[in-house]
Amino acid sequence: MAPLSPATRTTLAADMAVIRARTYAVSQPGGRTDFSVYTGAAGDAIALMRGGDADAARCRAAEACSLASWATTSRSRWRTGSGTMICGPAGARVVNEAMTGAPAELVVPNTFDANETLYGRAGTLDALRLAPSTPKSLISRLAAELLAAGPEYSWHGKTYLGAAHGLCGIAHSLIATYDEVLDVRPPEAVHSMIDRIADLVLAHHGAFPSRPDGSVRLTQWCHGSPGALLCLMRACRAAQLFSGSESSASPQRWLQAARLAADHVAASDPFCRAKGVGLCHGAAGNGWALLSLARSPWGTPSDEERVRHFARAIVDDAPRLGLDDPHSLFNGRGGRVCFLAAVLNETWMGFPAVDSV
Ligand SMILES: [Zn+2]
Repeated sequence: MAPLSPATRTTLAADMAVIRARTYAVSQPGGRTDFSVYTGAAGDAIALMRGGDADAARCRAAEACSLASWATTSRSRWRTGSGTMICGPAGARVVNEAMTGAPAELVVPNTFDANETLYGRAGTLDALRLAPSTPKSLISRLAAELLAAGPEYSWHGKTYLGAAHGLCGIAHSLIATYDEVLDVRPPEAVHSMIDRIADLVLAHHGAFPSRPDGSVRLTQWCHGSPGALLCLMRACRAAQLFSGSESSASPQRWLQAARLAADHVAASDPFCRAKGVGLCHGAAGNGWALLSLARSPWGTPSDEERVRHFARAIVDDAPRLGLDDPHSLFNGRGGRVCFLAAVLNETWMGFPAVDSV
């Protein structure tokens, strides 16, 4: 297997220094107040923790939590609907609980605009699941509500299939909830969601579409094959949960589809049309999808080599950081820190803020 670039560890260390030096302030005009996992202080905390600086991570997590509290008391848009892991104040509280032990004390909003991961029920279910202090009854109730809402994957009037706004994110959240918290066989509706993702991957030869009509094809975590691959591998890892379901052959089909999606991701430009190195629509997100297969019981040395190809590209092409928030977890350096740390670690580390903090 080809070695990683000698610059891997120096890139990781340099990125960590930049993230450690990021500053936030609510008292100064123009002070940065972004608490979120996506582009703010909670995302920094995750990157610092996974990069190996637990002390800095705990400080930044507490800062994220303070910023989130300030936001929920001072800005009307956060007074309700604040529940999602990646974009909401809840994510900052969950990260703080994971790192300092302070209970997140999450509440479920009364109303939701959507079911999706970034701004809807699935993202809130992720937050509840990732905070160990959350009562199981609250998780069970929201999972049932998400299922009862039906296969609705729309965001701003458009229907999406990917991890950020659609089917893959909703299915991933439900599989993880049944596997890790509820520990019972998921309803057939969950099985059907995974079958549908596998069918779409197979029908499009690995190029999972962003919209049901197949009109948009992107290859990034938020829209496209990487999010489908992560979801299918999460389903494969939980396959024993589904035994006794109507279609016992499904898990083999899920793995077959995952391999096809991995072929497509591996053949794509690691930089997704210069969208940078982050998790959402950058190289780290695509690399992580490949990692989910490589570090699974079904991974092969050639799957690992594909991961290393992404790791070498992401280091060797360092200037292409990303356009928006180039130091953040989902759009920039923070994602690269997590991905490189995961590659060097050589065990399976879940996708940040979805599989684990
Ligand atoms: Zn994105």
